[in-house]
Amino acid sequence: MAKNRAGVISFFGGRCPKCGKGKVFKNNILSFKKFTETNLECSHCKLSFEPETGFFFGAMYWSYAILVGFTVFMSILLGFLGYFDQALYIIPVLIVFTLPWVFRWGRLLMLYVVYPFMYKDKFFGKDRDDI
Ligand SMILES: [Zn+2]
Repeated sequence: MAKNRAGVISFFGGRCPKCGKGKVFKNNILSFKKFTETNLECSHCKLSFEPETGFFFGAMYWSYAILVGFTVFMSILLGFLGYFDQALYIIPVLIVFTLPWVFRWGRLLMLYVVYPFMYKDKFFGKDRDDI
């Protein structure tokens, strides 16, 4: 992993992918309707959270992957517990309740995984010495 990057704890805390201090999202995850609002830049290191317009469009694919994995996992788990017939009702209800987390993890994965690779100059700065 390149230097100047935050870790797993910062990811789950919704912090900046570069310094691990500034908050990515404006509101609490449980604030209904407002959990989607994202800050424009880090309050600590001034890293722009949207390097170009539509950057977070890719978060949709991450969210999809997370939900597919979650559905497969829950199907197997419910099958082992003997509730596989009810999985058709249980899983969609669980998905609705986990939506704020899935939405945020999709965006955070864009910031933590895609951003450092696709926008190296913006993420690390042009005067970096670790190329
Ligand atoms: Zn930062």
